[in-house]
Amino acid sequence: MQKGNISVQTENIFPIIKKFLYSDHEIFLRELISNAVDATVKLKALASRGEAAGELGDTTIEVLLDKENKTLTVRDRGIGMSEEEVKKYLNQVAFSSAQEFLEKYKNEASIIGNFGLGFYSSFMVADKVEVMTKSYRDTPAVAWACEGDPEYSLSEIEKSERGTEVVLHINEENKEFLEEYRIRQLLEKYCKFLPIPIKFGTRKETITEGEGDDQVEKEVEVDNIINNTSPAWRRQPADLTDEDYKAFYNELYPFSTPPLFWIHLNIDYPFNLTGILYFPKLGNNFEVQKNKIQLYSNQVYVTDNVKDIVPEFLTLLHGVIDSPDIPLNVSRSYLQGDSNVRKITGYITKKVADKLSELFKKERESFEAKWNDLGVFIKYGLISDEKFYERALPFTLMRNVAGEYYPIEEYREKIKENQADKYDKVVALYTNDPDGHDSFIGPAKARGYDVLVFDNIIDNHFMQHLEYKLGNITFVRVDSDTIDNLVQKDEKLESVLSEDQEKEVKALFEELVTEGGSVQVKALSPESLPVTVTKPEFMRRLKEMQALQGMQFGELPDSYNLVVNANHPLIAGKLVEEQDREKRAELAAYLCKLALLNQNMLRGSGLTEFINKSLEFLK
Ligand code: ADP
Repeated sequence: MQKGNISVQTENIFPIIKKFLYSDHEIFLRELISNAVDATVKLKALASRGEAAGELGDTTIEVLLDKENKTLTVRDRGIGMSEEEVKKYLNQVAFSSAQEFLEKYKNEASIIGNFGLGFYSSFMVADKVEVMTKSYRDTPAVAWACEGDPEYSLSEIEKSERGTEVVLHINEENKEFLEEYRIRQLLEKYCKFLPIPIKFGTRKETITEGEGDDQVEKEVEVDNIINNTSPAWRRQPADLTDEDYKAFYNELYPFSTPPLFWIHLNIDYPFNLTGILYFPKLGNNFEVQKNKIQLYSNQVYVTDNVKDIVPEFLTLLHGVIDSPDIPLNVSRSYLQGDSNVRKITGYITKKVADKLSELFKKERESFEAKWNDLGVFIKYGLISDEKFYERALPFTLMRNVAGEYYPIEEYREKIKENQADKYDKVVALYTNDPDGHDSFIGPAKARGYDVLVFDNIIDNHFMQHLEYKLGNITFVRVDSDTIDNLVQKDEKLESVLSEDQEKEVKALFEELVTEGGSVQVKALSPESLPVTVTKPEFMRRLKEMQALQGMQFGELPDSYNLVVNANHPLIAGKLVEEQDREKRAELAAYLCKLALLNQNMLRGSGLTEFINKSLEFLK
């Protein structure tokens, strides 16, 4: 037996490996199994070129637990190593790459998925590691062992099978890795889609034997293969049906609602990238849907935290991205500046936009039907990504109260005749609550105005963004002013009241408004409501924005206008003519309450009083 020192000139890295972030200890299994997969893939490549003699045999990788002897073994039937190779690869290459990794890790707390610690990561969980290996070249088999210090031993052994067996003697602090459920959990997380079958124990399976009446069900013990070696994203789109895509979605996220549609990514120049991105049903609570994309590198799971790899808005999508070209043993901050990663991000953004555009052009009806879910995503992208904005604007839709959908430019064209203000700016009207705004929508329609529905929490930002980017359109909520003033057109009706009468009416209503309210007496059409509560667009939006960002705008009450229609018969006639002070105040209060009720602002004791009063009238 030979003994030697793995490295004499540098610092002893074993204590550092052991102290490696506790929560990341589990990555050792991924590192060892990826080595086993690499060794097997290499062997297969050699064999296909006729460079490996003999039968390959079963190349299944095995993971074995021996709780009694406290060992965990990863066994492959790959290319194996000769004595020289063990010295070169384990003592030198693996050691110095582990060293390099730890050096980086010291400076950068978060290295993507902690990828790249490699073989020596086994010392995070093991006191002793043994490697028994035999090269495909049929050189003598060797055993290498190391007990977590720079000293190693190396000796020839008897081993007939080609390949490598790595035995970890799990230490006391990490005995969780001797539990079957824990290993199964890790295999499920990191190895689910590796390209070589991985066996972990056996499982029972029911099979049917015989024919017709003689059929019997039998329980048999079969190898428990934990991975799908040919996941959908690695296959050709032409070979996959919709059912395959949906089944794969289910494999990724068991028991979830089926996705709306998907995009199969497949590129080999100027970088390698495959993957499938799914559009989930988003609805309104999209925060919970975030961060579900999984990042793989050659089918090895790396992380589900891809926020530095795909643009923020794309984190709403689900699915898998697999690219060996994303540098993984670097810090996240480095990654954002990496030009390859920027290209990848750009490519994904473009692909997503292209797919949406195609859907819009070819299947407009189904695109519209999905708008409720798609819209959130597209609007989010439009706001947060300049490139996506340019691509997506043509298929960004707005829906009106009649349930019709229009792309923005088309909509502007449609309404610009009738809804341009005196400065030639197009005024688009909207509601966030078609039922609640019924009494405002009716008059708007009567004037031939169109009313949009903006009822998603993202719509506030969306409108603001469009106003800013387009410059030629403003959005005002249908209750933000009286119908005559919604689209400001310099036409004024004559008031039937004298100036003095208007003042009197104003004073009367000023007695009634609560904090935040102000009174305006305006000459509106006699058909318009006698009193209306309007909420000025600017102030309301400001408040909503700040509420969204979790900021409280002091204790500022809703600001609103109580607009009194000077020309309505109940005002110009009944109210002004009423001589009895008390009756006049009572009528004003009643009209005021109706207006508040119309805006859902009459609540509590005010509402109860109002109902009782109305019942009095009916008696
Ligand atoms: P990496 O896999 O990133 O190259 P590792 O430290 O994990 O780094 O491994 C170093 C080298 O040791 C590998 O490149 C490979 O040559 C060799 N090696 C490790 N595990 C095996 C194995 N199971 N079979 C054959 N060679 C292996």
